[in-house]
Amino acid sequence: MLRTAEITAELTGLVGSGDDFHNLHWRSKLEFSVDCFVCERTGRTTVYECGAERALCSGSRSGFGRHYTAGRIAAYDTTSGKDRLGLRALVDFWWAPFEDTRDGRAGQAPTSHPWVRLHLGYYCRKAKEGGTGSVQTNLVRPHELRCAHCESVMATDATTPAVRLLT
Ligand SMILES: [Zn+2]
Ligand SMILES: [Zn+2]
Repeated sequence: MLRTAEITAELTGLVGSGDDFHNLHWRSKLEFSVDCFVCERTGRTTVYECGAERALCSGSRSGFGRHYTAGRIAAYDTTSGKDRLGLRALVDFWWAPFEDTRDGRAGQAPTSHPWVRLHLGYYCRKAKEGGTGSVQTNLVRPHELRCAHCESVMATDATTPAVRLLT
């Protein structure tokens, strides 16, 4: 059956002007853990990209390798306020019941330990170079996002991204 999960995230303390402005923004790619009916394993990291008609499951180390699966980003809205950067994504994915081929656990939608990683991009005016970063569920918070070139703080990651099953 088709399931839809809502993923929301927010960064605060965004530096919005002057030389420390880094044009920090969400990139159109995310990784999301799914109980995968194709390789029949729970908690598989699956890569989604805006505009792609399918998602890529990381599979398992033995036997079933990486494979495409039925999933896509159905909506991707970013918001930027004075000092905050928000993201709301809707992810559609196909889910069917199965038992994990390794440990016999029943597959769930969403997976019993939802995990997400969201990607960021920026541009450093001082170094005249671009950079990338990410935030993910299992991080110690609050955590400062710093430019890899000039080490300026660009924003603060104070809230764990939320994953909510809508249908
Ligand atoms: Zn899979
Ligand atoms: Zn910088």
